[in-house]
Amino acid sequence: MSRSTVTIDLAALRHNVARVREVVAPAAVWAVVKADGYGHGMTDVARAAAEAGAGGLCVATVGEALVLREELPESRVLVLGPSRDEEVARAREARVELTVVADGLLPEGVPLHVKLDTGMGRWGVSELVGPTRDVVGLMTHFASSEADEELTRAQLGRFLEATAPYPGIMRHAANSAAALSLPEARLDAVRCGIALLGIDPFGVDATRHGLRPVLRWESAIARVLELGPGESTGYGRRFVAREPTRIGIVPVGYADGLSRDLTGTEVLVAGVPTQVVGTISMDAAAVLLPHEVDVGAPVVLVGDGVTLEHHAAVAGTIAYELACGIRATSARAVRIVTG
Ligand SMILES: *Cc1c(COP(=O)(O)O)cnc(C)c1O
Repeated sequence: MSRSTVTIDLAALRHNVARVREVVAPAAVWAVVKADGYGHGMTDVARAAAEAGAGGLCVATVGEALVLREELPESRVLVLGPSRDEEVARAREARVELTVVADGLLPEGVPLHVKLDTGMGRWGVSELVGPTRDVVGLMTHFASSEADEELTRAQLGRFLEATAPYPGIMRHAANSAAALSLPEARLDAVRCGIALLGIDPFGVDATRHGLRPVLRWESAIARVLELGPGESTGYGRRFVAREPTRIGIVPVGYADGLSRDLTGTEVLVAGVPTQVVGTISMDAAAVLLPHEVDVGAPVVLVGDGVTLEHHAAVAGTIAYELACGIRATSARAVRIVTG
């Protein structure tokens, strides 16, 4: 029996793609579905994004691209990360596009996007040299588009200057944060991951951008406990009751993706906000019980206004990391709602 259920709302995803397309038009929207679609399921997310008019799909590795190609024979698929020499032939056969992430000889016979490093300091060539005929795209990546507009503008300026001599080639630079906040960065296409999942790249609230959360995560109270004064729950006695306290045990823990740093965050128990208390264990967590609830009472870990953005702020991380951590396990059922 599954101890929690993740629901992926593909209608919300299609809405988000349409919304971002509307915001960035006439630029195209390329959907970034690496890391199993940020834990939302790569092929489901990719198919829904393609249906909603995404111009292409981006992944991190050739392995991911080959899986997508099987599922979506018609879509353009771009590998954002490095590819090994022995992967180039397979990419060519599968009509997958590759990114040039370092100075050196370019592979031949496969469509290429050359990434210029304008300040990310990770992947990318340091100078654009005359593109070969395989080059179909010129791109860069922003280091701090959710927090530092000045840096983003400087990176964009460097990119525009370096690419100006090659007007016929598609240019793309913006991730979700830049796509939403910096119109001049939209160019020919934007590469969005997090926004399409209905998560605010700025970590605040996606609804202010007209986006709807795609992921919902639910469980139920598995046990109700009465702690007397001085009694505790969980490892390390991190929560000790001062007065008689009712707590509920939720059968979900960090192995399911409920990060150990989420102590103190809020979830809904029978619709009422309540706190996660004590140390989150591998497969269980404790919550304060707001009122009389019984075993079986519904718990919403993500959904109905409980957001990954808020959880991330409590955990001192970003919603991306939490989303990637909510993985399919035997303990968890995934329900795909196509809408
Ligand atoms: C992951 C990634 C993106 C998508 O970023 P979001 O913030 O999720 O929109 C875009 N471009 C590159 C190069 C990436 O690696």
